[in-house]
Amino acid sequence: MSDLLRLSNVYAPTLKEVPTEAEIASHRLLLRAGMLRKQATGLYAWLPLGYRVIQKIENIVREEMNAIGSQEILMPFVQPAELWEESGRWEKYGPELLRLEDRHGHAYCLGPTHEELITALVRSELRSYKELPCSLYQIQVKFRDEIRPRFGVMRSREFIMKDAYSFHATHESLQETYDDMSEAYGKICDRCGLVWRPVEADSGQIGGKVTCEFMALADAGEAEIVHCACGYAADVEAGRGVAHPLEQGAEELEKISTPNIHTIEDLANFLNIPEAATVKALSAKDGAGNLVVLFIPGDHELNEIKAMGAIKGFELLTDEEMLAFGLHKGSMGPVGLPKSAKIYADESLKSVDRWVVGANEEGFHFVGAAPGRDFEVDEWADLVVVKPGDGCPQCGKPLEGARGIEVSQVFQLGDTYSKALGATFMDEDGKEKPFIMGCYGVGVSRTLAAIVEQHNDEHGIIWPASVAPAEVCVVVLAKAGSEDARTAERLAEELAEAGIEVVLDDRDERAGVKFADADLIGWPVQVVVGSRGLAKGTVEIKKRATGEKTEVAIDALVPETKAILATC
Ligand code: ATP
Ligand code: MG
Repeated sequence: MSDLLRLSNVYAPTLKEVPTEAEIASHRLLLRAGMLRKQATGLYAWLPLGYRVIQKIENIVREEMNAIGSQEILMPFVQPAELWEESGRWEKYGPELLRLEDRHGHAYCLGPTHEELITALVRSELRSYKELPCSLYQIQVKFRDEIRPRFGVMRSREFIMKDAYSFHATHESLQETYDDMSEAYGKICDRCGLVWRPVEADSGQIGGKVTCEFMALADAGEAEIVHCACGYAADVEAGRGVAHPLEQGAEELEKISTPNIHTIEDLANFLNIPEAATVKALSAKDGAGNLVVLFIPGDHELNEIKAMGAIKGFELLTDEEMLAFGLHKGSMGPVGLPKSAKIYADESLKSVDRWVVGANEEGFHFVGAAPGRDFEVDEWADLVVVKPGDGCPQCGKPLEGARGIEVSQVFQLGDTYSKALGATFMDEDGKEKPFIMGCYGVGVSRTLAAIVEQHNDEHGIIWPASVAPAEVCVVVLAKAGSEDARTAERLAEELAEAGIEVVLDDRDERAGVKFADADLIGWPVQVVVGSRGLAKGTVEIKKRATGEKTEVAIDALVPETKAILATC
């Protein structure tokens, strides 16, 4: 018997019914295609076909890491609490860190990430600037006790990650490795067949300043992003954009009665103008407790992170605090505020000479309020959450909105961990210095889910050939043991000998079942071998992505298959 992969020997229990617990396509299809099974909340087992895809992705990652000189290692999954205490994260990390004790009462955690371990690993033995830079990676399961595991392996508690860490003597050296990693991450996404964008991001738990997230575009993604054809892309929380507030209202300041109008929507409807032509006010206090009033275009939301950046100690006022300052929620405006109030306005409002805005009087608004004439703006700042349609900060064209799945992320960590854990090296000038570090993660299992989100139809998965569990499925329609079945097997072997990854569907099933499963599992190319074709010396090749079928002569099977595979 040849070492041909035979579906009759593969444990791939496909499901006809749609599993009710699965909310998104990738979760549904991976379960239905017999690639994945849930074992407990957020814990999944990979079955043979799914695991083949995982291994394909891992190998792509490995090739790209090795190509930039990162070296593969494997650290423990269980990590001692002491190291986390040294970094300060034993306290800080919170309930996502699963803590446990061994039989001796020593505290440990299940690794959610490995900055502590890697830093401890090199701290006593990576000693000289001459050995730098040094870049190490591993591919391993991680555990995060996610508050809301969902969407299958998209957000599970245990998941597979490639995590890399780099050590440097200088920031320039870190920047070089960071750029190499970013480029490698782009190649990994490309090779996995993903449509993706590199997105400016906030560094969250890890700390550090420069970071980029690689987002696979998909409606099921949790991240809301804006992007532009010029290459600019950002998470809406972090992104910049140019809002386009509209000019509206009278030349002169005019107070108008707006009974029972408290929201921008009501105001816009009442005046019959777009929301973008109104100005929204928010009240806050700064660190010293001073009143701050912020003005933004009516069709935008305040970005509190940006406000915190612009105003030290920024905090929105509660309803009681507003009353105490004599402010009217729903009709605040810049004219007639308490003298002590500091006025901040979003930069985009600079271009608007007349504002439609609250009159600081219940039931009244102003039209024609003019900055510089009727009131002064103390500070202009970027204060809003960017949204689709805003101008791209790079090229000015309207930004497009999309949802994204964060499949990977690169960070410049600096010396936070090396300082905390006392990891130093001897520099050229003879001085001991903490390493400058970078860390870089690829969610391998999430990447797999993202691929399925982008590559599926009503019949099932459509694997890009680069990550498919096998490139070609030879579907045998003839009865097992028949002459035609032997021919099918011989053709499959021919394909395999030509270097194509083949699986033979030799199961004792009806043709309809085999076709449905082949579509569901998503082999990029199906070669259908039936008696009618064989009688003419032909077989049928079907390209899964398009459904296109080609009848080819048996002699031409290998080159024809290769040609079609090249397009998958
Ligand atoms: P998220 O914001 O989605 O929680 P993260 O930013 O905390 O992820 P990182 O610490 O950057 O995650 O981890 C690197 C990669 O590991 C992520 O880009 C993602 O692909 C993957 N990953 C993180 N958490 C999970 C999870 N719960 N399930 C599957 N993959 C995950
Ligand atoms: Mg991340």
